[in-house]
Parts: sequence; C-alpha cells; structure tokens
Amino acid sequence: PDPTLRPDPLPEDEGRALRPQMLGDFVGQAELRANLRVFIQSARQRAEAMDHTLFHGPPGLGKTTLAQIMARELGVGFRMTSGPVLAKAGDLAAILTNLERNDVLFIDEIHRLNPAVEEVLYPAMEDYELDLVIGEGPAARTVRIELQPFTLVGATTRLGLLTTPLRDRFGIPTRLQFYTVDELNLIVTRNAEKLGVRADADGAREIAKRSRGTPRIAGRLLRRVVDFAVVEGDGVVTRELADGALTRLGVDSIGLDGADRRYLTLIAEHYHGGPVGIETLSAALSESRDALEEVIEPFLLQQGLIQRTPRGRMLTQGAWTHLGMAAPKPPGQ
Ligand code: ADP
Repeated sequence: PDPTLRPDPLPEDEGRALRPQMLGDFVGQAELRANLRVFIQSARQRAEAMDHTLFHGPPGLGKTTLAQIMARELGVGFRMTSGPVLAKAGDLAAILTNLERNDVLFIDEIHRLNPAVEEVLYPAMEDYELDLVIGEGPAARTVRIELQPFTLVGATTRLGLLTTPLRDRFGIPTRLQFYTVDELNLIVTRNAEKLGVRADADGAREIAKRSRGTPRIAGRLLRRVVDFAVVEGDGVVTRELADGALTRLGVDSIGLDGADRRYLTLIAEHYHGGPVGIETLSAALSESRDALEEVIEPFLLQQGLIQRTPRGRMLTQGAWTHLGMAAPKPPGQ
C-alpha cells in the first residue's frame, strides 16, 4: 500500500507551520477541548502541574499536537519521547531528572514501554519520586530521588495494550474521535491558506470528504492535489481537479484507499462476507494484526462498513453496497 495514503507519520508531515499552536486554533474534538481548557486554567491558577493525561485513538488525529498545545497553554516546557525509544530504566530516569517544575513530558506509543521502564514511571507519576538502583548484585542499593512535579501526557493507539496499573495512574483519560467532514473542511481550508494555495470551496470539501476522518491524511492529500493543480491545472484546487487527482491516487469517493478496499474485497470474495478471524485476515493480506487493528479497522468500523463479532469480522450491507456487489443470500432463502 502507498504509505502516503496511510495515517502513520512521515517526515513530510513535519511542516510545523501547519500544526495548530493553541487550543483556539485546534479544530474538532469539541468536548475534549472544552475539558482541557478547564483543566489547563485550573492548573495555571493553582500554579501546579496539571494531572497526567492519556490520549488514545487512531494515528493522525492530533494526540501529539494536543500535548504540545497543553504545554504552550500551561506556559511550561515540553519534552517528547516514545515507548520504544526508552530501552532502559536509566533512559527514562535521565529525562525525568531533567524536567523543570510543571513541565509536560509526552510519551508517544506508551503501550510499548518495556516493563522495567514502566516500573520507574509509577512512583514518578504518583509521588514525583524516582527509585534508582545503584550498583549490581549484593552491593546494589536503592536511592530515592525527588523529582519536580510534572505532567505526563501519554498517547496510544491501543488502549487495550496498556497495563492496568499504568492506565489507572492517568487522572484524565481521553479518547480522540474521527473528525467530521465539516471539521476536516475547515482544516483543509485553513491549511490551504497557510500554504498560500488557492482552493475553492468545493475543492476543499472534496478533499475533506476523502480524508478518512483524519487531519494528517487531509494535510497530505491537500499537498498531493496541489501538485496536480500546479502541473495539470491553473494552480487552483477545484472539485474536478481534486476528484481526478484523488482517484488517480487510489482514494475512493468515501476516502478508502487500496489497503481498505483489499480488506473489504477479501472478506467479500473469499469469505462470503464473514465472519472471519483477524489472524486469517492478517495472513491473507500480509498485513500485521496491529496494522489491521490500529489503522484499517477503526475507520471501517466507524463508517459502519464492518462489524466485529465474537466469531470474527463481518461486512455490513453498507460494505456490499460500497463495493458494488450483492451480498450472498443466507442459506435456505
Ligand atoms: P497523532 O499524534 O494523533 O498521530 P498528530 O498530533 O501528529 O497526530 O497530528 C497529525 C497531523 O495532523 C499534524 O500535522 C497536525 O498538524 C494535524 N492535525 C491534527 N489535529 C489537527 C486539528 N485538530 N486541526 C488541524 N490540524 C490537525
């Protein structure tokens, strides 16, 4: 599958200029935003560290962006790392001891922390203390180090993979939702302005409709469509131009890409619409189970194209209609 169509981060996304900087510029996630505003203001008024916050939801919905916004709105420093990068307890200890009062520490992919590192996190989160083991074997001893108060912001695409003790230590657990077409439309329109690109209203909306509910994809599709507008049009993103470009990129009318359609078509053509188990799908599609569960399935579920049942995944009537195929008749009818 074309990586530019997937919601996972790519270096080209690092256009910092497009990231919303303050809560007021952040589009969508209205309820979450309203709550964060209260928690941020309260922490500021009390001059204390804000409670530890967990963001979970599919990639590209704004978890990292919100963590950065929190630090900016709180007026504190921001440090960023990720679960897989923290190999040893000492790696995390080094970061924690360097935090300044009330800083935000962002740990992406926090479900991938190694257990020894996670152990260090518990007393740090709870009491702002670090228990460090010095030396080895019989000579080993533990020293306790006081830390500055800080806010841990964790992000995960897989809430289910977080250990219960870790999950319980977040005072503010929040779920990010896919964005509506109207919200994405606003994001695309603003990004076009920031990039100095001319996009008419229908052109922006066409991109929004086909962005898989995901701002990261919206940003990327806009850049691709602009390429076509510059080379093959007069530089203006119109609906016709967006439609032609997105179709050539393999993005269909509701935003599904080749990987999504392969998933649906496999269940339709080889399993009569399911149910079929996730391991079977993973093997048949040569996609990791994680990729299916974190990236492909959440959007298909949200769109009502598939259902998860105890016996496996099933296509809904909507999926058959979208594929332009007839659902098989149940036996005996
Ligand atoms: P995540 O951490 O959930 O994978 P990011 O915070 O890295 O997602 O956001 C992905 C991209 O989408 C970034 O380029 C960011 O600027 C953009 N983005 C995310 N949420 C919004 C939003 N609400 N409004 C505008 N742009 C957004």
